[in-house]
Amino acid sequence: MATTDKPLPHETEDSQPYWAKAKGGVLAIQRCADCGRLRHYPRLVCDNCHSLEADWIDASGRAVLHSWTVAHHAFHPGFAGDVPYVLATVELEEGPRALGILDCPADAGLKPGMAVTARFEQRADGASELHFAPA
Ligand SMILES: [Zn+2]
Repeated sequence: MATTDKPLPHETEDSQPYWAKAKGGVLAIQRCADCGRLRHYPRLVCDNCHSLEADWIDASGRAVLHSWTVAHHAFHPGFAGDVPYVLATVELEEGPRALGILDCPADAGLKPGMAVTARFEQRADGASELHFAPA
């Protein structure tokens, strides 16, 4: 299978544990080691207490749809074959919001609050794409 020309994630010291878990199909969420606040996307500093210390938890993968948009134009040539697709913001069961591709047509009766489940699409180029599917 030919490799895709989609952009690859830029792993950093802060995001490496997220990408490692994603390769195993697990959605990991960063947790402040001082105040316990969960955060997603991975980042250096806690929004709540400004601590630099963090660990990780495995998310359940359960979430509800918060909002979405339908991409009709490929904003990167690598996604030209995917349009139209639904880009969704979901509220994870654990609290933080996450952005991913919704595996569902836009005209399928999407409603805020509908239950979705996270999964990772393992691409041929080695990247892991976060997707959500109706539960
Ligand atoms: Zn904190």
